[in-house]
Amino acid sequence: MKTVYLRRIIILFIVLIIAFLGARELWEIRHFKQSIVASEDLTKRVMLSDYFEGIKGTWVDTPVYIFDSGKAGGSMLWLGGTHPYEPGSMVTAYVAAENIKISKGKIFLIPVANRSAWTMGDYGMGYPKYFTLKGSWGAKKFKIGARNSNQLDQWPDPFTYIHYPSRQKLAPQDIRNLNRTYPGRPDGTLTERLAYAITELVRKENIDLFVDMHEASLMYPVVSTYVAHQNAEDITMMAAMMLSAEQFPMKSEVSPKNLRGLSHREVGDFTDALVVLMETAEPFIDRVAGKMTEELMVEGKDEFLQRAAEKGLLYCDPEYDIEFGRPMWYRVGRHLSATMELIKQMGSFYPDKEIEVDFPLFKDLEKNGIMHYLHNPETADPNRLFYQ
Ligand SMILES: [Zn+2]
Repeated sequence: MKTVYLRRIIILFIVLIIAFLGARELWEIRHFKQSIVASEDLTKRVMLSDYFEGIKGTWVDTPVYIFDSGKAGGSMLWLGGTHPYEPGSMVTAYVAAENIKISKGKIFLIPVANRSAWTMGDYGMGYPKYFTLKGSWGAKKFKIGARNSNQLDQWPDPFTYIHYPSRQKLAPQDIRNLNRTYPGRPDGTLTERLAYAITELVRKENIDLFVDMHEASLMYPVVSTYVAHQNAEDITMMAAMMLSAEQFPMKSEVSPKNLRGLSHREVGDFTDALVVLMETAEPFIDRVAGKMTEELMVEGKDEFLQRAAEKGLLYCDPEYDIEFGRPMWYRVGRHLSATMELIKQMGSFYPDKEIEVDFPLFKDLEKNGIMHYLHNPETADPNRLFYQ
């Protein structure tokens, strides 16, 4: 009798230890904080809930960095991390946050648009939680998140997700996808309220240009592409032409009218902003890619993608080559230059919406790498150091 009890107690004890270790890992991912040493031109840092109370105190409330030149001109809302498992978009936003110099107009920057989705990884994908970039002052760890809001924050998913207000039927999990819930609604699900808060910022700040950064798999036809609401078609086509002539190949498409819930459809329809989404090539999320490692995330070199490229199955432009891969600096550099080109084109099409701004571009990252433009939090001015 006594040995039976002893064995049961030991088993219970082992189970508790395993549960504790597992829970601790999940807790750490959820509470990880990224440092940002904001540029000297930062005017103000507010929370998104300042534009819509309905997300205050929730896991989707997220910092907004405002760079205001004080001189009348255009305004831009710039989003990273709509889908945190596309981290090139967030790294671009961190580089921008730490380096923006603005002399005309205003920029509103949200590095992690869906912070709830950033607090977990995608089930069943088996990828690392973090990746690291190395520079002259040391190494910096970046978290990779998931695509959709965390189910701890929004649950359960419905059998069919009916988009508001179009009533189009979408996949159940897309009810937690920020880029399927625009324009959002104030009394909706948490992700719909997040979309509503972003749309409210666009309306209240009279945003002229809305740029939503993403990364796509190489087998997705819309990779290396701008997708623009029809109102932004002119500036986007010109920007793609200029980039392709001067920096790197870039395609441009117009948002289909019957694809609902996306930023480039709904924010364009429900506000006055010119809305553009951009995709870079992220080998990490292709289903045919091999082992999901930090190296694959940072360098983007994969032999299976090379095979797919040889069979003509990839859409990325320029063509995939394993010698070069798709390194993080390349993807971030593309987003930076592609955003700058949109700003320039908006200024030449609409002179009253001109923004004069400076931040690192593709050629700078090609020469110096990403870490050259990110600062050491340990030696930073504490007034400009933020953790989010
Ligand atoms: Zn995306």
